[in-house]
Amino acid sequence: MSRERVFSGIQPTGILHLGNYLGAIKGMVELVDRYECIYGIVDYHAITVPYDPQAMPANKLNVAIGYLAAGLDPQKATLMVQSDVPEHTELAWLFGCITSVNKLEDLPTLKDKLSQTGGFLSAGLLNYPVLQAADILIYKATVVPVGRDQEAHIEFTREVARKFNTTYGETFPEPVSYYTPAAVVPSLTGEGKMSKSIPGSYIALTDPPEVIWEKLARTLTDPARVRRSDPGEPEKCPVIWTLHLIYTPEEKRQELARGCRTAGIGCLECKRVLADAIIADLAPVQERWRHLAAHPDEVREVLREGAARVRPIAQATLAEVKEKMGLGKI
Ligand code: SF4
Repeated sequence: MSRERVFSGIQPTGILHLGNYLGAIKGMVELVDRYECIYGIVDYHAITVPYDPQAMPANKLNVAIGYLAAGLDPQKATLMVQSDVPEHTELAWLFGCITSVNKLEDLPTLKDKLSQTGGFLSAGLLNYPVLQAADILIYKATVVPVGRDQEAHIEFTREVARKFNTTYGETFPEPVSYYTPAAVVPSLTGEGKMSKSIPGSYIALTDPPEVIWEKLARTLTDPARVRRSDPGEPEKCPVIWTLHLIYTPEEKRQELARGCRTAGIGCLECKRVLADAIIADLAPVQERWRHLAAHPDEVREVLREGAARVRPIAQATLAEVKEKMGLGKI
């Protein structure tokens, strides 16, 4: 029996950070033994907001390196660049013809995106979720690993699938979201999630150990702990404690919580435990990263092979869709 298919993508917007790694890539790696996984570098999404064309090739390469360095085996999962499979955008056009503009304007993520464009709403930006639906449905994927903030887009994708199926006949599955246990990684600033567009908010996957330590050492803790002798509450320390919940085993965490409440330990001591865990987790990733960055042609070959592997699937779906829409051969 063939396995269910997974699609997910990361935009090539520059730095990959701990939020991408824990919130998305680790979950993607976990899925490869259970599903047929296709993971994209979604460059057509990245151009819906201001970007640097000169930096785009390196940014795409970096995402591919990040996927591979995090442990994705290209024999088990397909890595590809979205624009190398142009059927994505052709399907997006066809979906655009069954999508209401009002619906797109109402999606909650649009407001956040507009803040990145200074309020300029291009047709591409408005249609971003339509392209995302096409990315998923062109492979008839049934599972989509995403951050919780993307749930509205997955619901939108299900609506597109339903609308197409009822209008032109049963064609697409309705995909479900898959959340990794650490789907939302807090910003080091204490507000929102880790984001490369907010300076000081992230730990980059390539940060050396001393930089990771410096960033954590600077991070705000429970404001009640002004002096080393002031007791605190881990629950009021949103960044460090949330990361401890991800990284630190239960027993050690209880010991740290006790130390925090009784002022038995200082914040730097508590942060050191966390820093060591993050540094140890990233060490093999960074070692693979250095190797891949020194051999970019190996990475390019993985992407070339990936696009060649999935393009026939995309072409078959598009042919089926066009046939059902009356756009087949005459
Ligand atoms: S001891 Fe740890 S949990 Fe408590 S406030 Fe300091 S850094 Fe946060």
